Amino acid sequence: MGSNEEKIRYELTREFRFEAAHRLYKNYSGKCGNNHGHSWHVIVAIHGFKLDDSDMLIDFNDLKPLKRWINEVLDHTTILWENDPMLAYIKESKQRYFATKKSPTSEHIAEVILAKAMELFNNDRIKVKYIEVKESCTSGAKVFPIN
Ligand SMILES: [Zn+2]
Repeated sequence: MGSNEEKIRYELTREFRFEAAHRLYKNYSGKCGNNHGHSWHVIVAIHGFKLDDSDMLIDFNDLKPLKRWINEVLDHTTILWENDPMLAYIKESKQRYFATKKSPTSEHIAEVILAKAMELFNNDRIKVKYIEVKESCTSGAKVFPIN
């Protein structure tokens, strides 16, 4: 009795969207060096072996704090590498921005969101499995925590 629980791993995902511009400046010379915008898709995946008292991994509503953080911090910003000279103009003109330690690629934006998601959701029972960030329907990056 109860031993089957050990053999199942549950996983759920929720998708959020936000609008933001970015450009790639660091060691890059392709067309994404031009400031341009995306309707970004963020997929958060949570996994774990045990359900809660309501037989859920996590209530989908309880993932909303990540959406709120995305809205406050990333939505309708220009996302720029902290050493991009364009950042000074965006700041001066009082536009919303998010400055990144690495080039604001999908990979790095996923990494930034992963850190926040782990802070919000990781506990003894559930963990963030990955964050996927998609710039378009056809291109995206996933990051997985390694522990
Ligand atoms: Zn882009």
